[in-house]
Amino acid sequence: MKTRVRFAPSPTGHLHVGGARTALFNYLFAKKTGGTFVLRIEDTDELRSSEESIKSIFSSMKWLDLKWDEGTMPDLSEKGDFGPYMQSKRESLGIYKKYAEQLLKEGKAYYCYCSTEELDAMRKKAQLEKRSSKDEDRCRNLSAAQIEEFRGQGRKPVIRFRMPDDGQTVFEDLIHKHVKFENKLLYDFIMIKASGYPTYNFACVIDDHLMEMTHIIRGDDHISNTPLQLNVYKALGWQPPLHAHLSMILGQDGARLSKRHGATSIAEYQKRGFLPETMKNYLALLGWGTSDSQDIFKKGELEEKFNLSGCQKSPAAFDHVKLAWMNGEYIRQLSKEELFEAAGPYLKDFGLVLDKSNPRHLDIVAIEQEKYKLLGEVGSLVEFFFKDVSYDESVINKTLKAPDIEKILNGIKKTYSEISEFNDVVIEAKTREFAKTNGFKNGQVFHPVRVSVSGRTQGPTLFKMIEYLGKDEVIKRIDKTLSLIITQSTQK
Ligand code: GLU
Repeated sequence: MKTRVRFAPSPTGHLHVGGARTALFNYLFAKKTGGTFVLRIEDTDELRSSEESIKSIFSSMKWLDLKWDEGTMPDLSEKGDFGPYMQSKRESLGIYKKYAEQLLKEGKAYYCYCSTEELDAMRKKAQLEKRSSKDEDRCRNLSAAQIEEFRGQGRKPVIRFRMPDDGQTVFEDLIHKHVKFENKLLYDFIMIKASGYPTYNFACVIDDHLMEMTHIIRGDDHISNTPLQLNVYKALGWQPPLHAHLSMILGQDGARLSKRHGATSIAEYQKRGFLPETMKNYLALLGWGTSDSQDIFKKGELEEKFNLSGCQKSPAAFDHVKLAWMNGEYIRQLSKEELFEAAGPYLKDFGLVLDKSNPRHLDIVAIEQEKYKLLGEVGSLVEFFFKDVSYDESVINKTLKAPDIEKILNGIKKTYSEISEFNDVVIEAKTREFAKTNGFKNGQVFHPVRVSVSGRTQGPTLFKMIEYLGKDEVIKRIDKTLSLIITQSTQK
């Protein structure tokens, strides 16, 4: 049997970590099993769904390189034999209504005329009296006369599913194993709202069946929806797909991951400078692992190794420190050209427009490649190469007021101006030689040189930095520092 799985986002915001993990696991499962990965848009929440959200979700999926085979495509066209794949379009074709009517006719669903306020009041009362609120589903057994009366009052009904009163709903989850719900605790959920729109629990069953899904892989926040859905399958005489509920994702404090824990939307991680490869790798490890706990996966390796048996049911903790470490690992794997490409948009946002054909620019961007954790931080680390240096008070006081500072900087300026092959090896040798012949410690020379050419007390390896700045620029900057020192001392 060929597997068919789907990612079915509700377009009510950006793609978040949890949704992206669901999309990824479905994608990986389809790849691994040679199946089909479908994208269905569940836009039955008329008030909260938006095209903007659809676009944002698609753009994050594209960034993560999660391509789907079938469904609503990025240009909103439909691809595949089971369309349309957008629930609002399916609704207007009357697909859900047809099955709702069938269930009504068979007495497996009923019209409910209660207003939201009435229902709330009834539920509260039932809760206080420690009864199941099902006892309060007063429209369950309406007589024809009562229906007539409600209609006469102009009430707009919803359609509810009639849950079995007794017995259990049991299923074998591929991750959670044996799952069991008492039917008397399941409520008569709304299938069709007063607006005529289907609800998630109903539309999902109709579509998963008609689209011939073989496996439902989704977050375990849906596990309590599954018995409701399984009862609909049963009522319609359909064979349900297999279910695999992915473990919950928690923040470091043990609470379910939410905005409180910092960025949770994929777009936000992208903005901060995580690589898509990092995110994909990190998301894969949220609730899944290989038996040898592999951390980093080469391109294509996840597609090969992923399996549902490696999924765990215990919650997975989202660890920002590990994510940043992993991004550093991925950044280190990039060639100079790839790093430049990847960092380009971040540098541009930072106000640095660099030239790909200038090898020096590539060198500069890569100068601290070993240290980068986020592409978003590259700009501030290399900007001094391209902008005039300014020195802040503490730097001046700490380094540029050292004894012999003028003598050191003048001497270095002279030394550098005499170098014909201005590369790091020569620069280092000459700097050390200057220190030695003039009786200075290396640090006494290195620190002020670093500060005067970069405005910073810390930064990339000194001699490479000087090489990349170039002789003229280095001399210009030393001159500037010297004039600053002189002005400062004459002002005293
Ligand atoms: N639209 C639902 C959601 O975004 C899909 C749940 C499911 O996969 O069944 O949570």
